[in-house]
Amino acid sequence: MSGDALVFYSSVDNAQAWRSALIAELPDLDVRIEPDVGNPADIRYALCWTPPAGFFARFPNLQLVVNLGAGVDSLMQRDDLVPVKFARLNDPGMEAMMASYVIFAVTRYARDIPAFERATRRGEWHYIHPRPLFEIKVGVLGLGELGAAAAKALAAMGYAVWGWSRSPKEIPGVTARTGREGLERVLAESDIVVCLVPLTPQTHHLLGAAELALMPRGAKLVNVSRGALVDEAALVEALRSGHLAEATLDVFETEPLPKEHPLWSLDNVLITPHVASITVPELAARDVAESIRRVRQGLPPLHEVDPRRGY
Ligand code: NDP
Repeated sequence: MSGDALVFYSSVDNAQAWRSALIAELPDLDVRIEPDVGNPADIRYALCWTPPAGFFARFPNLQLVVNLGAGVDSLMQRDDLVPVKFARLNDPGMEAMMASYVIFAVTRYARDIPAFERATRRGEWHYIHPRPLFEIKVGVLGLGELGAAAAKALAAMGYAVWGWSRSPKEIPGVTARTGREGLERVLAESDIVVCLVPLTPQTHHLLGAAELALMPRGAKLVNVSRGALVDEAALVEALRSGHLAEATLDVFETEPLPKEHPLWSLDNVLITPHVASITVPELAARDVAESIRRVRQGLPPLHEVDPRRGY
């Protein structure tokens, strides 16, 4: 007789904090932290962030995989998963953290802060007359859980916000577009573009040389979704030529960003190490517990991922 246990794997998250948060929600849950997995046949649920290749193949009774984050691209590309239900995490804490990063990155550009940072280093009083926020157009690519929250926060702050998604959206204060034509329009209109589209076969290198060229000269890019959304070679070229004035990048095609990568040498780039948002165990454990209860009853989990869509 096999058990009803959950396996936890993450090299970046706090396993003990997750165990406590899960047990607070679901006291009968048997949480096993890799490598102390016990009998692999007991494992029915997995809560994981990018486990090593072959990780899932050991668990013959796996029913549910919950990705420890919003972006499931690395799960969709694996060959060690039998058909199970997939879910992602989403919690108000993650939305608020992502919105705070986007507001920071956009506002840093809207208020000319990089120019003042350079002037400070030169010891120079460098006056730039501020532009009102309603004159600054921000395009948010991806209007899902995080993209919509960021777009709403930007609109509430007074920016002129455009958005782009697969299906039509109605978000107060946001001019939303769909399709290739919509993408081209949003890129051409935006002073600052924020990328919050998931990485799927359809969105790989969504922003290549042709798309970056559509952005107005002097535009800025903020990428907080996945590095491979943007063709990095084309981005480097656009930043070197000055067509793009600045970029804030939290995600990269290869992470950590290799030492010799040309992005490190550009002074118009701000690099952060994939920290735009995180899941908070105390807030997200409630949904994981609810998904387990639902799967035990033969129901779909919360925030279920559609493997055919890839997100
Ligand atoms: P969602 O899955 O909720 O939303 C994705 C959005 O992108 C939806 O609006 C969807 O359209 C749109 N989209 C997907 N494919 C296409 C396409 N082919 N063409 C046009 N629009 C498309 O994701 P979240 O908002 O929760 O998260 C976005 C991404 O942020 C994650 O996938 C992850 O990669 C990244 N992330 C990064 C973090 C970091 O720390 N840097 C932390 C957390 C997430 P529709 O609404 O029509 O389905």
